[in-house]
Amino acid sequence: ASEPAAGKVYQIGTDVTFAPFEFQDASGKFVGIDMDLMEAIARDQGFRYEIKPLGFNAAVQALESGQVDGVIAGMSITDERKLKFDFSEPYFDSGVIMAVRENDSQTRTYEDLRGKKVAVKTGTEGYRYAESIAGEYGFTIVPFDDSAQMYDDVKGGNSVACFDDFPVIAYGIQQGNGLQLTDEEKVAGASYGFAVRKGQNAELLRMFNDGLANLKNSGEHARIQEAYLGEGA
Ligand code: GLN
Repeated sequence: ASEPAAGKVYQIGTDVTFAPFEFQDASGKFVGIDMDLMEAIARDQGFRYEIKPLGFNAAVQALESGQVDGVIAGMSITDERKLKFDFSEPYFDSGVIMAVRENDSQTRTYEDLRGKKVAVKTGTEGYRYAESIAGEYGFTIVPFDDSAQMYDDVKGGNSVACFDDFPVIAYGIQQGNGLQLTDEEKVAGASYGFAVRKGQNAELLRMFNDGLANLKNSGEHARIQEAYLGEGA
């Protein structure tokens, strides 16, 4: 096995706003579960990296074209993506859910979406799910580049609902982001993993997995999640 080149700084793509996994704090620094995990794993394994907040879809495309070495962005380990990328061991369980405006008492189920617009985020599992039921429930999809824009479209009343990952929606609602859940429950989804280009970055992937295993054993992985989600996360 070859050692990582001396002085190598891995370029890691991420989303722009996907709290509690990656988001900017008051000083503009990128924080969150993914950011803390990457930092702790790099420290444990002794490699250097740079975070590139490109947006989710752009980060995945940058990985595909080799402009970044890896992506950590609450990225679901799906069978389709496994054809293009190698994934780490899973580090967080997720799923997709619908959310509506806080004061909207009309939109309670998918049936209420008929003839309406629904906001989604390009390149995500939430988009895929909404698309898969759009015909049956007769709604139109409006795509956005990031979660903040998607939520704003719902809050502004252009779209009546949006679909995003359950842990992200739940965290946002808890922070008072102006959305609420409906009578629809979350749809089971794939867990999150760290991705590298298929067959291209075995060294980085091995270090991520080794570091993740060490953090799970030491309790650091649980501490990172609890720092954002509270006790028992
Ligand atoms: N988990 C979702 C996916 O992989 C969304 C990720 C994101 O928006 N950052 O498609």
